[in-house]
Amino acid sequence: MQEKQNSTGLVWFNNNLRYTDNQALTSACKNHEQVIAVYFLDPRDFVISDFGFKKTEAFRIKFLLETLHDLKKSLKKLNISLLVINEIPENSLLTLCAKYSIENIYTQKEWTSEEDAILKKVKNKLPKNTGFHEYYDQFLFHPDDINLSFNDIPRIFTQFRKYLEKNITIREINTVKPKHASNLLPEKTNIPTVEDLGFKMVTVHSNSAFAFQGGQHEAIKRIDYYFFQTKKIGNYKKTRNGLVGIDYSSKLSAWLANGSISAKHIYHQVKEYEKAHGENESTYWLIFELIWRDFFKYVSLKHHNAIFKKDGILNVKYQWNTNETLIQQWIHGETDEPFVNANMIELKETGWMSNRGRQNVASYFAKELQLDWRIGAAYFESMLIDYDVHSNYGNWMYVAGVGNDPRDRKFNIQLQSEKYDTHREFRDLWLTKEKARR
Ligand code: FAD
Repeated sequence: MQEKQNSTGLVWFNNNLRYTDNQALTSACKNHEQVIAVYFLDPRDFVISDFGFKKTEAFRIKFLLETLHDLKKSLKKLNISLLVINEIPENSLLTLCAKYSIENIYTQKEWTSEEDAILKKVKNKLPKNTGFHEYYDQFLFHPDDINLSFNDIPRIFTQFRKYLEKNITIREINTVKPKHASNLLPEKTNIPTVEDLGFKMVTVHSNSAFAFQGGQHEAIKRIDYYFFQTKKIGNYKKTRNGLVGIDYSSKLSAWLANGSISAKHIYHQVKEYEKAHGENESTYWLIFELIWRDFFKYVSLKHHNAIFKKDGILNVKYQWNTNETLIQQWIHGETDEPFVNANMIELKETGWMSNRGRQNVASYFAKELQLDWRIGAAYFESMLIDYDVHSNYGNWMYVAGVGNDPRDRKFNIQLQSEKYDTHREFRDLWLTKEKARR
């Protein structure tokens, strides 16, 4: 795009809430003298979904609001104002564009149906000459670099990973220079509180494995701690199936999910660590897991709305039931399996659950209780601090046997709890002694 002096570019933030390695922000700053940023707290994100859960619960809202405070401060240092608007974007964007003579909007590209529908409505309302610049910016391996059409994305993860590792280079991260102070707007908006949005404030539970705050600064602090100060990353492969405490895994997922850190940024920090302290199977494994994250994004690019359908991307028919008593018992940690119960109570109390826990409770829900997996996925969507549409629905489909693993497998919960919670430390943390030993 041509350099446009004296024109104003608008960065519409969504799940890219960072100032480092943000293509929309970098491009807007490069192309325009004036840059304004906006984030919409869309009331549709807080309504009750088809399966009866709030689309977002208080844990994730708290994290999001912390993220917005952090982003607003950081952008201010770059002399860019962030407006936080508690409305649907369809109406307000138009008003903003008219008020500030904006002809170019920069944003992260989203493709799942709800986000896409909003984007279409926005585009339809804007004047025809408005430039709309969308960037895939949530990937480790950029879609423009992979030399594969989305239809040709392999169904099997290992094939996908090996192809990328062999052929594709991960891009460098990009940064922006501060604008002139006169770029700041006199107009100011307040970031609401959790209560303003109609939720009860939540505090961090003393047993929580995720006792972190939102925002790019906190993400960078966590990387610094986990990689460089404690070198825990050097042992990650051995600890990653843990259940108790803040350090068994990186805990980077929540910042990744709302985009306050990029996957590329983490990748390059792993490489820095390897340069300084040597690489091993643990440092590689963190990148391996980030490739899983990419994989589910490509799966959703390939299969679109099939990821939300009962028969999944495999289009396979199972008899799912919707027994409300069983669902409630699962949610409240009142099933016959103490290991499932402990994990579900952790989720309810903290908005967090380990990967090992998620695998087990999802398998129990779909394969043991044979409940419609989409209900479990919708509950996770509501509760998880790190909810990410692609990872959540991709993993749920996978475990339910309608996704990328065609094998109809289920976890043996007893064996899993003996292996991963041998001394009952995790069950004792979340259940009364009597219930932990049932
Ligand atoms: P680490 O073990 O430190 O891994 C590093 C990063 O790799 C993670 O932050 C994450 O971005 C990625 N990653 C790790 N495991 C997976 C995986 N199985 N699939 C995709 N990416 C992965 N992850 C989410 O980010 N959001 C979700 O909504 C989500 N829902 C899930 C639902 C189910 C049923 C299951 C089984 C898994 C789900 N996961 C989800 C994946 C995984 O459980 C979490 O990413 C992980 O537990 C986050 O902890 P961490 O950041 O410490 O991970």
